[in-house]
Amino acid sequence: NRSDVHYFGAGPAPLPTAVLERAAQVLLNYKDKGIGLCEISHRSPDANEILADAKHALSTLLDIPDDYEVLFLQSGGSGEFSATVYNLVAIWVEKKRAAIAGEVGDNQEEVLKRMHKAVDEELKLDYLVSGSWSLKASQEATRLVGAKHVNVALDARKSNGGKFGVIPPEDQWSLTPRASGGGPALVYYCDNETVDGVEFPAFPHALEGDDAPLVCCDMSSNFISRKVDVRKYAVIFGGAQKNIGNTGIAIVILRKSLLPPHSTPASPDLLRALNLPVGPIVLDYPTIAKNNSLYNTLPIFDVWVAGQVMSGLVNAYGAKRIGGQEEVSNDKARLIYDTLDKYSHVYRVVPDKAVRSRMNICFRVHGGDADKEKAFLAGAEKKGLLGLKGHRSVGGIRASNYNAVSMDGAKALVAYLEDYAKSS
Ligand code: PMP
Repeated sequence: NRSDVHYFGAGPAPLPTAVLERAAQVLLNYKDKGIGLCEISHRSPDANEILADAKHALSTLLDIPDDYEVLFLQSGGSGEFSATVYNLVAIWVEKKRAAIAGEVGDNQEEVLKRMHKAVDEELKLDYLVSGSWSLKASQEATRLVGAKHVNVALDARKSNGGKFGVIPPEDQWSLTPRASGGGPALVYYCDNETVDGVEFPAFPHALEGDDAPLVCCDMSSNFISRKVDVRKYAVIFGGAQKNIGNTGIAIVILRKSLLPPHSTPASPDLLRALNLPVGPIVLDYPTIAKNNSLYNTLPIFDVWVAGQVMSGLVNAYGAKRIGGQEEVSNDKARLIYDTLDKYSHVYRVVPDKAVRSRMNICFRVHGGDADKEKAFLAGAEKKGLLGLKGHRSVGGIRASNYNAVSMDGAKALVAYLEDYAKSS
């Protein structure tokens, strides 16, 4: 029975029971129409209302300014690794082309010659690699534009014996200088590394300032869990399946100045001439924005679930908005980490204390002894504490503390951690 367990899965992750109960009902019969939510047209007035409500709830929670657009796509988180590259490279190229055309006039041959040189010498995409997911994103960028254009400005493993778990000080990062050729096409980082349990404590200072670069941030696993100063980002994205909803959609918060008429992407012909990739139309931000996320069939049921979850938070926290959830998330994480620290002869938290994730709490039991960790997990399951196995690539234990994990759930885990440690 649902009420007998607490689920700490990393994604897909728990959803509020009340939302699932309503979801079961609307799947069969939406608004007494006799047909269910997976059966209605994505272009119907009902679908439009669902879309608008979800956008409104997210904008309320995160105080998204008017000069930002919210997009829903079927890309998953990983699709946005590619989308950020396609879209921001196309913007960088067009900006460059306009500047060069301004210098040399209408001579297309000369423009193209200079563009080749500019791309060759100046096109850089900066990646802060702080864990497995930013590593994957940087690998996708390399696959799309080639290693020479990808600047790994930080590889956190190098400061930690080959493993993730730290974020070295900013003065050790090697960001592309802002002055040379206008700086990088983007700076990418992952706010919360789901596998490694590493979360940026705050927005990096090095990415701030008047001539700040275009920052793209993966918030898949800590979306709507704390306040975010949206204006600092060009693109924020996340898959819904952790804090927001069920698998099936990704949400993108995009600075409108990156969309026409403010910015125009380079033409596919120009990109091809420069041997740069032309992205699929379903990842093209201007196309998705122009069509209110309905360029193609959007899974409206998934948007409905996300909207219900987010409206639930709006109602629960009122004027505090996401700050209310942040307090609860922090309290739950503190409770669990304090217990792990209290029994440090049994448990070892994997990441450095300064960058511990509030969302994915990664630890080892008895120094990572495989049999003992197995026994720990088996004991947890007997108590109805599910989904605690660490990611297959790193092993160990991972307690994901997403929004739908209740304070009671956190307390039940803490009680088990206490019992296990005392009996060890
Ligand atoms: N980024 C992060 C931080 C993630 O945790 C995940 C999925 N666990 C992804 C990206 C990839 O998301 P998807 O599986 O939806 O492609």
